[in-house]
Amino acid sequence: MRILVTGAAGFIGSHFVRSLLAGHYAGWEEARVTALDKLTYAGNRANLPASHPRLRFVRGDICDRALLRELVPGHDAVVHFAAESHVDRSLEGAGEFFRTNVLGTQTLLDAVLEGGVERVVHVSTDEVYGSIGEGSWTEDWPMQPNSPYAASKAGSDLVARAYWRTHGLDLSITRCSNNYGPYQHPEKVIPLFVTNLLEGHRVPLYGDGRNVREWLHVDDHCRGIHLVLTRGRAGEIYNIGGGNEYTNLALTEKLLELTGAGRDMVRRVADRKAHDLRYSIDDSKIREQLGYAPRTGFEQGLAETVAWYRDNPAWWKVTKYGADRAGN
Ligand code: NAD
Repeated sequence: MRILVTGAAGFIGSHFVRSLLAGHYAGWEEARVTALDKLTYAGNRANLPASHPRLRFVRGDICDRALLRELVPGHDAVVHFAAESHVDRSLEGAGEFFRTNVLGTQTLLDAVLEGGVERVVHVSTDEVYGSIGEGSWTEDWPMQPNSPYAASKAGSDLVARAYWRTHGLDLSITRCSNNYGPYQHPEKVIPLFVTNLLEGHRVPLYGDGRNVREWLHVDDHCRGIHLVLTRGRAGEIYNIGGGNEYTNLALTEKLLELTGAGRDMVRRVADRKAHDLRYSIDDSKIREQLGYAPRTGFEQGLAETVAWYRDNPAWWKVTKYGADRAGN
């Protein structure tokens, strides 16, 4: 079994690869992994083992047709994580989001078709659904993306669907809620707040903090992806949720408590443009059809995540400040 993982040096892709190499996924203990990543600011080679008998790392761009034509043949499956992933950056400039997320997905799927790969999972996000006041999104909810990031992911979902429908590609799409856990880039809210608080800096809370997010531990997300990869049906979308809804204010209060900081460490900042008020996923399909259930409770997962950042300053200081300033 040979599996190609795109975006493998990012937060979620690297967790998936480390879990695969550690033999955490039944039936895939011997799988050989090709980890493809452009190593943008978000990718970090150190998120993966420096060497491993079943790992090959390739630095490359999913928009590079020639590279993909050479690399993709011979793989049995592709798990596609590579993306520009930070909403705030997409508000500043969306070009790279549409290039990587839409054109990159199309270029990758062309190579998958040509290379005869048998199975593909395209990793997407609940943000394609927009914002929901009450209730939770099922997979057939219309896509109403509000940020350029979400629009580019919605575009990639449509490319993926079209390649299934037109070409008969054995492809499934996953849409998950907000992930958290170790190795997440400190631009994202939980690691940003935790690392700020560990350094004695205040944390910037958007608006009144009443925006609601559903939190999913990265390990539960990756187990869900593996389930979809092995048992999911072609052309189907699977929501993956954590079942933990918190306002950003409630999340911030938990992080203050876990780091021993006071409320004076919170700085209110102007709200994000078009800030989605609430995300909530109905993931009963993957639970009922594939037997998925998250294992990590939010209280425990968050405490472990804070402990990981406390124990690994060398990792996040380089990521947050660059190698030359990491010692400051
Ligand atoms: P990330 O930003 O940590 O990692 C993305 C990786 O993709 C990086 O290693 C980067 O170098 C690589 N990459 C970017 N452009 C590339 C290109 N053109 N070619 C090859 N590699 C490229 O993101 P993440 O949080 O690990 O997210 C992974 C996937 O999960 C994304 O598709 C994202 O949309 C989706 N997702 C993430 C979350 C979340 O909470 N983090 C939630 C829902 C969905």
